[in-house]
Amino acid sequence: MVDWTAVDLALADIESDRDRATCQRLSLDYAHFSPILWPQLQDRAADRVLYPRSEADLLAIARVCVQEQIPLTVRGAATGNYGQCTPLHGGLLVDLTAFDQIVWQRESRLRVQAGAKLAAIDRALRPSRWELRWAPSTYRTATIGGFFAGGSGGIGSITHGQLRDRGNLLGAKVLTLEAEPRFVELQGEAVQAINHAYGCTGLITELEIPLAPAYDWQECMVDFPSWAAALDFAQAIAEADGLIKKMVCVLADPIPSFCKALKDSWQTGESAVLLLLTEPSLEGATAIASELGGRISWQRSPQDQPLFTLMEQSWNHTTLHARSVDPVWTYLQMLLPLGEEAQFIRHIQQDWGNNLLWHLELIRSHGQVRVAALPLVRFEGRDRLQQLTDQLTAAGAILFDPHTYCLEDGGMKQIDLQQLTFKEQVDPQGLFNPGKMRAWREKYGDRTV
Ligand code: FAD
Repeated sequence: MVDWTAVDLALADIESDRDRATCQRLSLDYAHFSPILWPQLQDRAADRVLYPRSEADLLAIARVCVQEQIPLTVRGAATGNYGQCTPLHGGLLVDLTAFDQIVWQRESRLRVQAGAKLAAIDRALRPSRWELRWAPSTYRTATIGGFFAGGSGGIGSITHGQLRDRGNLLGAKVLTLEAEPRFVELQGEAVQAINHAYGCTGLITELEIPLAPAYDWQECMVDFPSWAAALDFAQAIAEADGLIKKMVCVLADPIPSFCKALKDSWQTGESAVLLLLTEPSLEGATAIASELGGRISWQRSPQDQPLFTLMEQSWNHTTLHARSVDPVWTYLQMLLPLGEEAQFIRHIQQDWGNNLLWHLELIRSHGQVRVAALPLVRFEGRDRLQQLTDQLTAAGAILFDPHTYCLEDGGMKQIDLQQLTFKEQVDPQGLFNPGKMRAWREKYGDRTV
């Protein structure tokens, strides 16, 4: 039994929330996108939410966790989709948003505190003409620590691949839960121990990352009479090496009608491709569009009044917009079979028709352009979802299950021995975000505390 009076006394100098309703609200993320995850998570809550402001505060929290054997889960902005920051076993939820400073910038290398928001980092970098390599569509609110610990990629992945690709994370400072907690510095390959680990292998206080040249991104939406023509266009743009792009997204009919910002520019029956391109690349893109029968239905340059941005119509914002129209929609995540994308979609559509709407994001993976899909799925029960998943896998897609809170069963697919070994060193009692890492559960049980 945790002696909460002693804990509160030891951490009395750190701002906190103790009220059950507040702790529960702050413990939840966007797992409600999944009708499978939500019932498992909606009642989970931390016992306390803490707002440290200094490394000394963090060390004090870590010491109490180790002494009292209390789980510690980190909260960035809680925009994750799989309950990553939801404590399964209560304990302390540590909000890192006060750690929001740029430590230094050396040309295309940045050292930043983990609680800094992505949009704020880009704003601060702007005068130097460098920017972050990616933005998740939640870039306005999400933190850089939460993105690397819980995200996978996003706007920018068409050029820079995924967050876990070599070269995309250079260093990190991490707080441990050893018998005597301390900060450790990870550089080189060692840094993969905390990259996409849901905070199970340490609390990240600083990240060192490479930057990309900042362009004045032009946004445009190009409409096509069919999803197949839209996909052809998207692939042609993605493969055109002379065109500098940050986003290539396909929304099959009728998905644009779910997005308030797009529906006035969209015509019934059309599928849309959303692009972020440099200004000189627009000419090439326009030529490809007219060759393939496309119509530019909306365009904005950075000088125009930013009423909205196409970035917030892409990636999982598409699911958000669809669910705001009808919460029956949920989603899946997958890579389509290389070179057979259109046949694959046709084949699956024969059986699923309008119960599956195709939202595609083009990315770069292992040197090739790949079509990632986040299709909207009309939820008709767990068995039907499983039937669909089995059919997609049998047809050659690689699925990344968004209906699980388990680290390995979602994006990573396999046990990562480097992450497990690192956790054994820095968190021997299994206190960081317990229950999320299958590798640990299989070896030591759900909690060793
Ligand atoms: P949180 O949700 O707070 O945390 C995520 C995980 O990281 C948790 O396990 C948490 O414990 C851990 N964590 C947070 N900070 C730290 C830290 N400092 N040290 C250790 N662990 C930490 N994801 C993408 O990858 N690409 C997208 O384009 C994208 N689009 C989205 C759109 C919508 C509408 C929604 C709801 C989600 C989307 N996501 C996307 C998922 C999510 O927004 C991102 O992964 C985001 O970057 C998470 O940041 P956060 O600060 O909200 O992290």
